[in-house]
Amino acid sequence: MSELSDLYQEVILDHNKSPRNFHKLEGATRTAEGYNPLCGDKVTVYIKLEGGVIKEISFEGSGCAISKASASMMTDSLKGKTLAEAEGLFEAVHKMLKGEMDSDADLLGIGKLAVLSGVCNFPARVKCASLSWHTFRAALQGGGGMTSTE
Ligand code: ZN
Repeated sequence: MSELSDLYQEVILDHNKSPRNFHKLEGATRTAEGYNPLCGDKVTVYIKLEGGVIKEISFEGSGCAISKASASMMTDSLKGKTLAEAEGLFEAVHKMLKGEMDSDADLLGIGKLAVLSGVCNFPARVKCASLSWHTFRAALQGGGGMTSTE
């Protein structure tokens, strides 16, 4: 695990230790489950949509530090966003994790999620970081069923 040490920056550790919005959401209008068989990460994302805005978002699950920190930061970033803003953020994060970030401007647009940008150097970990985002998108697109990174 030593090659991953520089991924475990303070922010990731903090989110892993005290994940934000880590609970079941009563009255969720959308929900989906995700699974990353490569690592064993599991996540359930709950969303409460109101007039095209993500009023509340939370998650539950178990997995490695990166998957948990990523889900925690995702819920933090998406709360209060419109669906269009959320879609934009999804695309930006997806690009970042594939190492296709074009400029520092993109990093700025992504805000603190940029701490995950180092993950693109570790292909096996990209799915850990992207799991919650794919699950979030599946929830928006109707939910139900299981989203797998495979
Ligand atoms: Zn993982």
